[in-house]
Order: sequence, then C-alpha cells, then structure tokens
Amino acid sequence: MSSKKVPVVNESLCIGCGLCESIYPKIFKLGEDFKAEVIGECEDEKKCQEAIDSCPVDAISWESENGSEQLRKLSESEGRRIRESERRKFRFV
Ligand code: SF4
Repeated sequence: MSSKKVPVVNESLCIGCGLCESIYPKIFKLGEDFKAEVIGECEDEKKCQEAIDSCPVDAISWESENGSEQLRKLSESEGRRIRESERRKFRFV
C-alpha cells in the first residue's frame, strides 16, 4: 500500500537558521531548542519543496507518512534520536 509523503526534519542536522520557518511558517517552526519542527500538514507542496531546497544543511526530506509515524514511535519508545540509517529506509528519493 502506498503512503502519502510528508516533510520531516532531521533534528541532528538542523542548525536552527530559521529559513524553513520564514518560507513556510504554517508547517515549520523553530522550537525552544532551536531545532525546526513540522507543525502542520503540507498543503502547498511547491512551498514545502522550496523550504526543503533552501535548507543549508539538507536537514529536511520527504518521507512516507507511515514510515515517519513508525520512526516517531520508535524514538518515543526508546527515548532516543533516530539514526540516519534508520531514517533512510523511509525516504522518498
Ligand atoms: S532551514 Fe534547515 S537548518 Fe534551517 S531551521 Fe530549517 S531545518 Fe533547520
């Protein structure tokens, strides 16, 4: 079964520059730890892509919604950040 793609921020790469938030503030928001978070559903794919392309450290990528949810649960249950190798399994190329 195919899954919708959603933007995901890799917090370990994010340097907190705020560019994604300035491009699409309905979706991206800098947290108190100066790491960007995805706070809503991407209604404008072009704008989302612009934010992804503008990130200076390539910290934002499209991932499958199912995979993103699985990774979130894994991170919560194990109380750790997700490794890049785990994240790559769900990435849209
Ligand atoms: S553009 Fe990239 S580095 Fe800057 S805040 Fe957003 S995710 Fe972080």
